Amino acid sequence: MLVQCPHCFNRVLLRNDETCPSCQQPVDVNGPEIVHKIVQIREGMKLPRVCFHCAAEATGHAMAKLVAEREEADFALRFILARLLPSVFRGTSGAKVIRVDMPACRACEDKPQSAFLRGWDPRSGFLRVVVHRDFAAAMK
Ligand SMILES: [Zn+2]
Ligand SMILES: [Zn+2]
Repeated sequence: MLVQCPHCFNRVLLRNDETCPSCQQPVDVNGPEIVHKIVQIREGMKLPRVCFHCAAEATGHAMAKLVAEREEADFALRFILARLLPSVFRGTSGAKVIRVDMPACRACEDKPQSAFLRGWDPRSGFLRVVVHRDFAAAMK
């Protein structure tokens, strides 16, 4: 039976020892119902006016910000050059800052982004964000 993992939010077939094959964490199959899921969000996307985390009325924002390296090859090259010419290649030239303000209620707007930001997709440039399922539903 497929279950939604409360840690990585993937739908998975649990291993025999009831751990998630995707993130290796134990899953309590009788645990509370999972109300969060991972969605892909890009900069400038129109977002629903409800809190991304608890789906209450949004009064502010929680910022999701990520410094994304554009390309791996380019990154490796810059890393080498930065070692050879540190004065020239200091800083984040070539890196792209992706920033999205997630609508949030007062209780959730101070959440650290480590609690909800799960990286990004380098091909699409979309952030992977953990949101309430009602927020996700309202995005469509
Ligand atoms: Zn998992
Ligand atoms: Zn909230």
